[in-house]
Amino acid sequence: MLNKDFIELMSEQLGVEECRQLVEALQEAPQPTSIRLNPHKSYEAPPFCAPVEWCRWGGYLAERPSFTRDGHFQAGGYYVQEASSMFVGYLLETALGGEIPDGIRLLDMCAAPGGKSTLYSSIVGDKGTVVANEVIRQRALTLADNITRWGVGNTIVTSNDPSHFASSLEGWFDVVAVDAPCSGEGMFRKSEEAREGWSLDNVRLSAARQRRILADAWKALREGGVLIYSTCTFNRQENEDNMEWLSEEFECQRIEIEIPNQWGIVRTEAGEAQCFHFYPHRTKGEGLFAAIVRKGSEEGRGQRHNPKPRRSPFGEVDKKIVAQLSSYFNTPYPLKFTTIGESIYAYNTNHWADQRCVAEQMSVLFSGTKVGEMFGKKFRPDHSLALASGLRKEAFPTAELSEEDMLRYFRREELSSVASLAEGLNLLLWQGQPIGFTKRIGARTNTLLPKELRIFI
Ligand code: SAM
Repeated sequence: MLNKDFIELMSEQLGVEECRQLVEALQEAPQPTSIRLNPHKSYEAPPFCAPVEWCRWGGYLAERPSFTRDGHFQAGGYYVQEASSMFVGYLLETALGGEIPDGIRLLDMCAAPGGKSTLYSSIVGDKGTVVANEVIRQRALTLADNITRWGVGNTIVTSNDPSHFASSLEGWFDVVAVDAPCSGEGMFRKSEEAREGWSLDNVRLSAARQRRILADAWKALREGGVLIYSTCTFNRQENEDNMEWLSEEFECQRIEIEIPNQWGIVRTEAGEAQCFHFYPHRTKGEGLFAAIVRKGSEEGRGQRHNPKPRRSPFGEVDKKIVAQLSSYFNTPYPLKFTTIGESIYAYNTNHWADQRCVAEQMSVLFSGTKVGEMFGKKFRPDHSLALASGLRKEAFPTAELSEEDMLRYFRREELSSVASLAEGLNLLLWQGQPIGFTKRIGARTNTLLPKELRIFI
């Protein structure tokens, strides 16, 4: 049952007939499952039953399979993402004129579990750096797992309060995305919890919290930078009212965005922000609100603030080891290898200074590609090396697994096909895609899959 106050609120906002259609749609089954392919990996999905119009990598599936049991999902070949959410990528690319500038710095302020961050990571590619931040530590760990799977190597996962970005990385980012915690009206047909947790009080509290996050996000954004704001809720208090507030408080500039009418997205304007509503009775997706606006004036463009360097967590890697580790990669850009504690990480040299700067200022959980550890002359790879899109598969003995062994691997069980493995380290493949490492020692296999990634089905 939908809350009466919610229906009243929507009726005031949309009018009686439109509200009736919305309420009807919210009582139907959710939209078909959609996924988004990883353009940095070569997984070829079975044909979609329809594409997601606003995302070239997105498509709807005929039915919902068990993703946990799919080796391609585990290897980051695709991300399961609600179709409407993919629209923020369209906004980003359109706002940047279809051309991602070299050295771009993008902050995704409320990022877990990583749906939008992985999309931003795909779009930014080797042009720059994505910072995926999640304030709640436990959720940030899940975010780090998903970023590792995605394997582009351009993303830093942090777990900081938005105010830390405002104070330590003021004016540093070219793009800041705020996918704000909200009252979740857009999730009503998917989640009973969302329906039951909704109240007018919750709307008010959410709107106030969103303003606090927006104010911090604004500070982290450079003059001329782009703010993308989104929620999965319909009410204007958390959406247009916040955009109006932003335009009154700060100097904002309009960004023109064209969208085809047939997508069914409802456009509104609030202050200088262009706003977009996805209503489930009009679009092929769940509820979403997205808005876009530029900070300040054109004149300020290109000027980015850099904070003073702080104590660095990074250490040098011996030249001989660098030569060895470089042979594991096949990237179109040079790599910088460095240590954090005992582990060795690899970064795109072109953006290394930015990655270092974030690591010096913020609480970082994961960044670049975690390559592994050296024990004397022996190298132990990290699971994230197997999932890195820049991995050179030929650098390791490879073993193509049966479906049974692929599942055994993700359950952290002994593999049944030990005889077909090389002695020592093996890169395991599922239908040609790397999924992880195992070590054969005689008749036994020792998995290198981290315990926290183990599946139980
Ligand atoms: N962007 C994510 C995605 O696409 O997968 C979904 C983000 S979800 C809508 C909002 C996130 O904001 C949650 O992960 C939540 O933990 C986080 N959050 C909650 N309170 C917050 C706060 N005060 N400041 C910043 N983030 C907060």
